[in-house]
Amino acid sequence: MDNRMMGQVMPELAKKNTVMIVDDDVLNIAALTQILGSDYTLYAEKDGARAIEQAKELLPDLILLDIIMPGMDGFEVMSRLKDMYETDDIPIVFITGLSDVITEEKGLALGAADYIYKPFSPAIVKLRVRNQLQIVNQMRLINFLSITDALTGLFNRRYFNTRLNYEWQRALRDKGLLSILMIDIDNFKNYNDTYGHLQGDAVLKTIANIIKRNLLRSNDMLARWGGEELAALLPGTNSFGAYVVAERLRTAVKAHIFPCIRPEDMHVTVSIGINCVTPYEYGCLRHFVDEADRALYRAKKAGKDRVEMAEGLS
Ligand SMILES: [Mg+2]
Repeated sequence: MDNRMMGQVMPELAKKNTVMIVDDDVLNIAALTQILGSDYTLYAEKDGARAIEQAKELLPDLILLDIIMPGMDGFEVMSRLKDMYETDDIPIVFITGLSDVITEEKGLALGAADYIYKPFSPAIVKLRVRNQLQIVNQMRLINFLSITDALTGLFNRRYFNTRLNYEWQRALRDKGLLSILMIDIDNFKNYNDTYGHLQGDAVLKTIANIIKRNLLRSNDMLARWGGEELAALLPGTNSFGAYVVAERLRTAVKAHIFPCIRPEDMHVTVSIGINCVTPYEYGCLRHFVDEADRALYRAKKAGKDRVEMAEGLS
């Protein structure tokens, strides 16, 4: 996958990488800025404690860390960064004038990604930094691909299940509500059979986009459940709220015009099944999803292009 394509699927990967320089000597900061400034977005800190705060805030892709600093030294800064979940996976390259084996071993044992020795060779600094950032970017791409459905660009089912578990646990703790929508495109097989699978894929993508645009809250999440079925998770939403959202999705899809040969195919519809619960300790996650699926099935049986609630909900 080339960079342009990565940019399309994942905007963060097209952005310049960010590097934080932590060094008590401003001359070193100036030298590194000169070497790296044109390739990366740089942040600089002279003080270890402040660097930790800033790293937590800015989440740089890479940290260049001086070892000998007044106050908190580089080893201490490193251990603290590795102890916080926000910063524990940011690679750290030590900058040091201490070219003895013991120091190097200590740094690597603590989890340093690499070493750069003073005085700097600009070419070596550039290459070591580039190598680390290549690893960062590759890991990020792998993570992205592992949670994304390739066709629609939505989250995939595996990630949906992870988030479902997480939201279930959170709602259990907070005694909060959790709603789920199972969304299925009506008569999709006919569409595929008439216009071919490429057209069918295009319709699925378009509908995924329409639905994504119409889920307005940032913690709502949408995934491709499989085939022409999508699933949306709405944390903190009651059954009435979920119904309002489902109706908005249904009408938005129906309003879209797909340019087609047969006029009767220009509007594609979806059926939606809803379930909503306040999770309780012995509640079953699987049952929660199944009930939404059963509601979807009833929507299909009742004539499609409609929203149905799980039994017992109003
Ligand atoms: Mg120093």
